[in-house]
Amino acid sequence: MVIFLKNYSIWNEGIKPSETKKLDMNKKVDVLVIGGGITGISCCYHLMNSKLKVALVEANHIGSGITSKTTGKLTFLQDGIYSKIKKASNLSNAKLYYEAEKEAIDVVKEIVEKEKIKCNLEESNSYLFTEDEQKIDTIKEEKEILESFGEKIKNVQKLPDGNICSYGIEAVGNYSFHPLKYLEELKKKLLQNNVEIYENSRVYSINDFENYYLCKVGDFFIQAKKVVLALHYPYFLTPFLMPFKVHLEKSYVGAFLEKDKIKFNSISLDKPVKSVRFYKNGRDRYKIFLYGSRNIAMEVNDKKHFEQLEKFPYDYKYMWSNIDVMTGDYIPYIGEIKDNLFLATGYNTWGMTNGSIAGVVIKDLILGHDNKYRDLFDPLRGVKVVTLPLVFYSNGKSYLESKINLDKSWYEKVRIEEVGGKKIGVYVDSDSKEHKVYMKCPHMGCNVVFNEKEETWDCPCHGSRFDVDGKVIDGPANYNITYKEGK
Ligand SMILES: Cc1cc2nc3c(=O)[nH]c(=O)nc-3n(C[C@H](O)[C@H](O)[C@H](O)COP(=O)(O)OP(=O)(O)OC[C@H]3O[C@@H](n4cnc5c(N)ncnc54)[C@H](O)[C@@H]3O)c2cc1C
Repeated sequence: MVIFLKNYSIWNEGIKPSETKKLDMNKKVDVLVIGGGITGISCCYHLMNSKLKVALVEANHIGSGITSKTTGKLTFLQDGIYSKIKKASNLSNAKLYYEAEKEAIDVVKEIVEKEKIKCNLEESNSYLFTEDEQKIDTIKEEKEILESFGEKIKNVQKLPDGNICSYGIEAVGNYSFHPLKYLEELKKKLLQNNVEIYENSRVYSINDFENYYLCKVGDFFIQAKKVVLALHYPYFLTPFLMPFKVHLEKSYVGAFLEKDKIKFNSISLDKPVKSVRFYKNGRDRYKIFLYGSRNIAMEVNDKKHFEQLEKFPYDYKYMWSNIDVMTGDYIPYIGEIKDNLFLATGYNTWGMTNGSIAGVVIKDLILGHDNKYRDLFDPLRGVKVVTLPLVFYSNGKSYLESKINLDKSWYEKVRIEEVGGKKIGVYVDSDSKEHKVYMKCPHMGCNVVFNEKEETWDCPCHGSRFDVDGKVIDGPANYNITYKEGK
């Protein structure tokens, strides 16, 4: 049963982000970090005592992107990732990735301790399990790989909440936290340590000159010797050709009050995927439950997925969805993509650890220090040939489907009109006020689809999201789709 459901992430509840000012003059810095999610904030944190002049610009406010909708686990026991990396590349890369995840957890723990950050960081055992007999061997392989790395792994037949599984494994030394409290506290530290932060300051272009980049930020320019793209999914095509290297996965999450005093992190290998963590807010204890995910390009409708989540007999208080960037070889892209231009993305839904380690790797690359993960994460390492057809197929399919498939019979809250040959989406709110948008995504021209649960217009091709008035919430789109009468 769903009563008084809030259609936004639990992390936004009660958080009043402190606003820093918008960029209001031209600037010259050593390093410009673009994007204030876990990646951008972590990069700035590790650079703040480097003597370099560092600025961060954020299109909305710090923590308003994908990081605000995560489940916030800090865990090295992921969704069978080590066997996947072993298969896609080799065992040594799987080991190096494991070391990066362990180091990321230590980095966050050290920062929380050193800076005395109150962000609900709690140690929780992690479980990887299956309810499908056919997946048992894959989990056994994951266990063997982790044990060969020196990790102590236990077999389980049921999870701490009593749920029976066909087979599962348990790993200690994992954590969960409140991602937005963490970012908010780090933002304060950055400001105290001379990092300049500008919010509501969107980057529209980055032009390279001989020794510097000139970035158009709102109405002003920032000249920077080095630029870090910490914006989840870059809005531009070149360099890097992101849409041809990755796909996007969207997952559905609910949170409800939990009476039992249990805590653990879990994820299944099954389809639909199940993932759980717990969060204590004052006297309230919540279970955060993720159920189901989809490649956004293969299917355009969210409704079915929210309905699947609603079928569980939980009294949900919050429900939301979130999207992450998936790479063909399960390894993130973190590193230099062009002289003095750095990128960090492709976290395969593990960005709390990978965004945290990205801060360390990018800092080392900028300062010219060695970093043992440099080659592993190198964004120019090449795309696996076998993944290319899938990426091309899903890009083309979603584009065509968004244009041709006019069956919008699932829409209850919007209607579609045509004005001057352009499709206009009209959302009517509870006060009968109409909110109109152009239905074409400014990123690459796909038609947006209405997500009735969260009341957002979502792009089925590359994951951009817009509010009912057409304001861009998540990229890669860099422009609004607000419809203006008579224009
Ligand atoms: C359902 C779901 C659950 C997840 N749960 C977990 C989990 O439990 N543990 C885990 O490790 N990972 C998890 N992840 C993954 C993790 O949430 C992401 O990988 C991570 O938050 C990405 O962080 P980011 O900083 O790269 O991106 P973001 O948080 O999106 O930050 C990028 C910022 O850049 C800004 N920006 C964009 N364009 C511009 C521009 N042109 N100019 C200026 N600013 C711009 C955006 O506004 C945004 O604030 C989950 C992902 C999903 C989808």
